[in-house]
Amino acid sequence: MRWLEVSVHADGEAAEAVSEVFNRFGHGGAVIEQILLSDEAATAAAVETEDPVLMVRTFLPIDEHQGVVRRQLEEALWHLGQIYPIPAPEFREVADEDWIEAWKAGYGLQRVGQRIVIVPSWENYTPRPEEIVIRMEPGMAFGTGTHPTTRMCLVELERRVRPAMAVLDVGTGSGILAIAAARLGATPVLAVDIDSTAVEVARANLAANGVNVAVSVRQGSLEVLDSESRAWDLVVANILAEPIAAMADDLASALAPQGCLIAAGIISDEEPLVAGRFRAAGLAVSDRRQHHDWITLVATRSRLVV
Ligand code: SAH
Repeated sequence: MRWLEVSVHADGEAAEAVSEVFNRFGHGGAVIEQILLSDEAATAAAVETEDPVLMVRTFLPIDEHQGVVRRQLEEALWHLGQIYPIPAPEFREVADEDWIEAWKAGYGLQRVGQRIVIVPSWENYTPRPEEIVIRMEPGMAFGTGTHPTTRMCLVELERRVRPAMAVLDVGTGSGILAIAAARLGATPVLAVDIDSTAVEVARANLAANGVNVAVSVRQGSLEVLDSESRAWDLVVANILAEPIAAMADDLASALAPQGCLIAAGIISDEEPLVAGRFRAAGLAVSDRRQHHDWITLVATRSRLVV
């Protein structure tokens, strides 16, 4: 896959504002890097302003949605430009390898919720006894833990997963949520993704975390459940509003009677669509999280479901 790299030079506060925009629209969120000292112009600028010059980057997959997302991102930056003196963004087409290298440069240890720590695969880390460690190699699949949708799902999993719960992760990407579920004691855990690269990356990450026996991975979507008659105690789906809305009936029937669904990747404008489909499918929204424009819905089966 090819990517459109979007970068903006900015100082501290503006860089933070830009990275919020990038977290909203970019694939996998924003990467902030200090400009290398060898970059003379940037160094001179930094000395003058006594504020380090940062480069904030993100990546948009070059696919059929790219035009719309790029326009939204440019609009959001334009609005920011009314508050902060930021230069126009630069766009550059890059290949997968560049995307991965950029990620490695900007990827560090992350804490999520009360106990979850996401550690880059190349870093040493000695966890405290209560910590749940997830080792991640940012690769070609979505789900490094930097994106707010992933983080909200992790927080919900930490709150809700109990030992021996059966957990289904729909759209596993890097496998991050399935790893968290297994680490929190869920068993069995099934992770599915329609994308063959994601399935490969998830398998590698599961093995690196020693949970490849606890978690099975299959390529596909809810139709792979036909051979699994089990009812799931918890289903997590961090995909996008449209596919989630389209799957509402199947998600409802995959749930155990007391089961709970965590649905994420929903932009606030699309929340009514998803909530409406959930109601029609006999799912009652019991909890809701929001980070900027991203909504996460928690739903349970209402008694009307047959
Ligand atoms: N669960 C990870 C990754 C989310 S990205 C996280 O929370 O960070 C969404 C993933 O869903 C992508 O890997 C994409 O390939 C997959 N996907 C998209 N539509 C799907 C569908 N209908 N069924 C299953 N997976 C789907």
